[in-house]
Amino acid sequence: MDIDWEPPLPAGYNDLHRSFIQNLMARGTLTFKEGQRLLADLKSKTIFEPVDPEAITLDHFTEAIRTAREAIEPLDYDIRYMRDQVRDERVWVFYNTQSDPASQMATVHSAEEVAYIKRLLDAMFETYNTPRMEVMAVDEGQALRVSRPTRQSMANGNGINGDDAEGSQAATRGLKHSEVLVLLSSLVAEGWLEKSRDGFYSLSTRSLVELWSWLVATYNDEEEDWQHLKFCEACKEIVTYGQRCTNVDCTIRIHDICSDGFWRTRPDKKCPKCQTDWDGNNFVGERAVTSRSAFQRSRGGGGGGGRRGRRSEVAVDVGDGEAEE
Ligand SMILES: [Zn+2]
Ligand SMILES: [Zn+2]
Repeated sequence: MDIDWEPPLPAGYNDLHRSFIQNLMARGTLTFKEGQRLLADLKSKTIFEPVDPEAITLDHFTEAIRTAREAIEPLDYDIRYMRDQVRDERVWVFYNTQSDPASQMATVHSAEEVAYIKRLLDAMFETYNTPRMEVMAVDEGQALRVSRPTRQSMANGNGINGDDAEGSQAATRGLKHSEVLVLLSSLVAEGWLEKSRDGFYSLSTRSLVELWSWLVATYNDEEEDWQHLKFCEACKEIVTYGQRCTNVDCTIRIHDICSDGFWRTRPDKKCPKCQTDWDGNNFVGERAVTSRSAFQRSRGGGGGGGRRGRRSEVAVDVGDGEAEE
């Protein structure tokens, strides 16, 4: 991304706003805490004395975001905030409103890597996201299993842009396992993927904002009642980590971070669609695997480095068994 552009100037726009935008562009995301530190730092440089980050209020911060949005809007960029589903932290994401994942990733990744990323997304949102198991995350073993394209996906020219992607023609070799491992850690470092303590890779909040419309267009089918991507009954944002209705056929999902507020006004705690009791123990995300006894047995006791492979196999077994239905 070119950091050196001259934005059009909204009212009240100054050097502080310019530096704020440049920082946000370079980072991709900003939490309120990071925003406080950044604005305090920028402000102290203009008034030549230290500014306490705590003195930057949410109002100050959102005002800076508002001015930034105005400045970048003509350039097809925007800033949107989403709460992190796991950490319950508000994250502001700087994103390109026009681009798809291929053009996002192609700037730093090869065609082979972009093709792998598409297979990884298919694994997250199709293979390991079935009506019985909405994992939407993969462990390392599962990530390695898609290192090479299947014969079928090669025949379909299954590139990240769709069927006629130019990149997919060249990208048929696949990646070596060692290349996949390097790519996964760079995707984590770049903020596209998150890696959990239990070793699952999932899309970061930043990716969910960036890829939102592409994900829905790619993995959801309006004709179907069961969609690969579902939205929180409370906040209407995408759910890749949260709770699901006990009734397997029901499509109601709620974020953990939204559930307290949601049930406060519904003390009977019944699903708003099918009226089944909501027990909060049916999960979307990696806990669809890790809450199962097979997974817990496999990791019980000790826990040296050597256990990792076994855990991974169990996760694969559980995931695959369900995926074949
Ligand atoms: Zn929610
Ligand atoms: Zn329900």
